[in-house]
Amino acid sequence: LESRLPGVGTTIFTVMSRLAQECGAINLSQGFPDFNAEDLLFERVAHWMRAGHNQYAPMAGCLPLREAVAAKVETLYGTRYDVESEITITAGATQALFTAVTACVRPGDEVIVFEPVYDSYIPAIELAGGTPVRLQLAAPDYRPDWAAVAAAITPRTRMIMINTPHNPTATIWTRADLDRLAALTRNTGIVVVADEVYEHIVFDGATHASCAAHPELADRSFVVSSFGKTYHITGWKVGTIVAPRELMTEFRKVHQFNVFTVNTPVQLALADYMADASRHLGLAAFYQAKRDFFRDALAGSRFELLPSRGTYFQLARYTAISDLGDVAFCQYLTREVGVAAIPVSAFFADSRDDRIVRFCFAKNEATLAAACERLLRV
Ligand code: PMP
Ligand code: GLN
Repeated sequence: LESRLPGVGTTIFTVMSRLAQECGAINLSQGFPDFNAEDLLFERVAHWMRAGHNQYAPMAGCLPLREAVAAKVETLYGTRYDVESEITITAGATQALFTAVTACVRPGDEVIVFEPVYDSYIPAIELAGGTPVRLQLAAPDYRPDWAAVAAAITPRTRMIMINTPHNPTATIWTRADLDRLAALTRNTGIVVVADEVYEHIVFDGATHASCAAHPELADRSFVVSSFGKTYHITGWKVGTIVAPRELMTEFRKVHQFNVFTVNTPVQLALADYMADASRHLGLAAFYQAKRDFFRDALAGSRFELLPSRGTYFQLARYTAISDLGDVAFCQYLTREVGVAAIPVSAFFADSRDDRIVRFCFAKNEATLAAACERLLRV
């Protein structure tokens, strides 16, 4: 069989988590919490299962959950999305992103992405027959170069994929960035896909600049989020996508033949759980405390910590410690030091290596403390 993705191996997240497990290392590589969600959430799932809600949900998602999402988005971002035609519940953000690309991108279309780029975007574009156009974000600030964006837009540009707060760099875009994006895509027919899975994890009093909060961009954007990040349930694989009706109509044509629909009792439980807004609003302070704990604990180390303004990731430059490339350094850290991290070169198509690694601090303090004790010795 001739591979449709000849350049693709196993994702770095699977590779590093497996190595961490083999070595018994503390796993700060793949992004997921090592603490549990609240019991109440599990009780609500059990409730809906026992109440007989175990068959197919509506294709777009359970109505109470779409209603809860509509209310949240309107409260936070000021845009009212129609529950019938503009909100869909997905099998995680990954499926939402993949389906949005599949629905919009035709062979020969160009899709602009920013590197370092989350690893699922480019394979999705390539499977749709599109051409990824990679623009670079440079350490330590990883700011978009708007002149380069303007220069990259051609009549064939179909889509621009953005991610804020950004994995892996932990940077966030501002409203001014969205204004630039809006100006550059005005009257072009370009669709924006905004990966906002870390929308509730922004630090130091910053506000998340959502495309859903930008009236002009909202009109041409898919906005994606994930309950995995927000409620500490990455393994449940439930996400959301909102978009204007015209875009969502095309999205659902693919969605219905891709997954059709998502786990029913889990959706109903999430709808109940969303009723208390403090659960998502409290997330920023919750993770900021972990970020500060982790950074303070590493302050005496030889790692150079880059700013972390959102997400649950911390980048660290290790040039004072080692001359190894970042993949080799992560293997060394995992095998010899007992702490697993992600090499940031994995987020670049050409494996650009800035000698920077990504740590995930979505962990109990005891886990972070044990990891930092080891990292202080290298
Ligand atoms: N986008 C980004 C930027 C992510 O970090 C992740 C998960 N780590 C996803 C998408 C995928 O989210 P989900 O697990 O809901 O599919
Ligand atoms: N998005 C998570 C991360 O960046 C991992 C998700 C996955 O393993 N696919 O670590």
